[in-house]
Amino acid sequence: MLFVISGPSGVGKTTLVRRVLEDFENIVFCVSHTTRKKRNGEVEGRDYYFVSESEFRRMIEEDELVEWAIVHGSYYGTSKKELKKVGVNADCILDIDIQGAQQIREKLQDATFIFIMPPLFQELKKRLEARGDESAASVQKRLEVAREEIKYYHQFDYIVINDELKRAVKDLKSIIRSEKCRLDTRSLEVESILESFTEY
Ligand code: ADP
Ligand code: 5GP
Repeated sequence: MLFVISGPSGVGKTTLVRRVLEDFENIVFCVSHTTRKKRNGEVEGRDYYFVSESEFRRMIEEDELVEWAIVHGSYYGTSKKELKKVGVNADCILDIDIQGAQQIREKLQDATFIFIMPPLFQELKKRLEARGDESAASVQKRLEVAREEIKYYHQFDYIVINDELKRAVKDLKSIIRSEKCRLDTRSLEVESILESFTEY
């Protein structure tokens, strides 16, 4: 199964996803490629694959990406190779922007789309400023983009409001658990249970 997480920069997507990954053994994070600079504490191959613009453009030209977008002035994209790698034996989570989520919806209708909202615009601003890894201009840019991104919430299947972190983590985990219990997701398991009923 594929879980697509979107929402404005600074809303807490990375924080939420990390907490969810700690608790679900069989879910992995699909690492994106980006041309933006590595932040303090970020690890190549864990948080992103950090590449040059020319390498990213080569990947676009050679059709290596499932989706890509320019976000806050940098390129971001999900490679087909990464999605295949993580998706073979496990469910996976994508943390991508609205444009990317729209592209995934066109290609992979079975994915589950989850939008993360801040409790208030002012709180988003506070979080971006407190994270402290962007210049004032970059924070401003992200907030302007957020005013647009927030309008697209209705294209998603679920909304998680990240006010109190513990509660938001619980909501996100509940969504994932519910999706994994859906009739169509469980059909193989159900079939083998039903078979056991016919054996005696
Ligand atoms: P995103 O990945 O969406 O850009 P981050 O996960 O980096 O956002 O979170 C942005 C900042 O907000 C981080 O400093 C993080 O610790 C903080 N944060 C995340 N969730 C909460 C929350 N529920 N309450 C307060 N601060 C939070
Ligand atoms: P950040 O620079 O804060 O890590 O991410 C900025 C924005 O880029 C976030 O909205 C994040 O979801 C988005 N993003 C990260 N990876 C991808 C990706 O592979 N594709 C797309 N379309 N957006 C991405």
